[in-house]
Amino acid sequence: MEQRCCESTNFDLKQIDNMTDKLTKEQRHLCMSHIRGKDTKPEMIVRKFLFANGFRYRLHVKGLPGKPDIVLRKYRTVLFVNGCFWHGHEGCSYAKLPDQNREFWASKISLNKERDMRECTLLSASGWNIIVIWQCQLKSKIINETLNSLLDELKGYKQLEKNNMIAENDINYK
Ligand SMILES: [Zn+2]
Repeated sequence: MEQRCCESTNFDLKQIDNMTDKLTKEQRHLCMSHIRGKDTKPEMIVRKFLFANGFRYRLHVKGLPGKPDIVLRKYRTVLFVNGCFWHGHEGCSYAKLPDQNREFWASKISLNKERDMRECTLLSASGWNIIVIWQCQLKSKIINETLNSLLDELKGYKQLEKNNMIAENDINYK
């Protein structure tokens, strides 16, 4: 996962560190695993699954809004593997705000959500299908269900003919 939360607001990582000291162990783990950046475990699970099923993809494509974690160009699909806390997964227990510095976190997460929405609007305006997989959907109890429905969804997107594929230059795909 990219450091989307920190980059856009010029967040000082030390400040985040101080804040996360006040979190529960689980919340802290979630935060820090996000801050560490790319190739977080949930993302790796999805990548390995897709690869094993014959899908080929690009990672963290900078030329696209939101720098999607996984881009399946043949399916005109971008995939985000979202941490529940940072992306404010509605109704999810992982997304529960800590009691300490609650206002700080509420506004932080709300900004993240607004940005996610803006990026999705841009992507879908350019004709991309968007799939979001939440970290909590990869828990052992439901991971098979999640990955199988990902497969179904991807198969449902008609594989584009080569000549209909988005030209690399058109979208700064790199
Ligand atoms: Zn969740």
